[in-house]
Amino acid sequence: MIIAYIIPDIKDTLGPNNRLCIWVKGCKKHCKNCLSPELRAFAGNDLDVITFLEDNVDFSKVEGVSISGGEPFLQNNELLDLVVYLESKTKDILIYSGYKYEELAKDPINRLIFKHIACLIDGEYLYEQDKNEKLKGSLNQRFIFFRKEFENLYLSLNKKERQPIPIIFDNEHLYLEVGLRKRSTKNV
Ligand code: SF4
Repeated sequence: MIIAYIIPDIKDTLGPNNRLCIWVKGCKKHCKNCLSPELRAFAGNDLDVITFLEDNVDFSKVEGVSISGGEPFLQNNELLDLVVYLESKTKDILIYSGYKYEELAKDPINRLIFKHIACLIDGEYLYEQDKNEKLKGSLNQRFIFFRKEFENLYLSLNKKERQPIPIIFDNEHLYLEVGLRKRSTKNV
């Protein structure tokens, strides 16, 4: 799977509680002022992601997983394997997609993916409708819950203030902010 970053211990950002966050690479959408322009190209690590997680992540601390990008459903065969594996660790799995649920649901692989996750946040990012919601990039996006028990948790967190978390990878001199932030730069 073409992966950009895998970061554990992200608290109440991109989902409730202590989360493992996974960003894939590659997206064919062209949202104005894309939230993650550096992740739109498909070039990157083709990682055996399940083996990597098994070897490197302490799942005893993981309360939820968020998968974002890029567009996760463009690698849906690998995504299905990943969510089946992750569901054995936590039932709270969130996926972000630039496609609408109705478009995604036409593909039988995606329908299988939905059986293994708690929530999908769907739809393109519309800059003009970015109202600083904590979990949704813009008002047009929707929470689609497949596990209703997580609904209140997500909806109440979504009302809180956005506070992106700065992360620095010392060895690569890379600075990253985890969490949604409205960009003022031009689209790329
Ligand atoms: S779907 Fe996400 S990654 Fe793709 S262009 Fe839109 S904001 Fe950027």
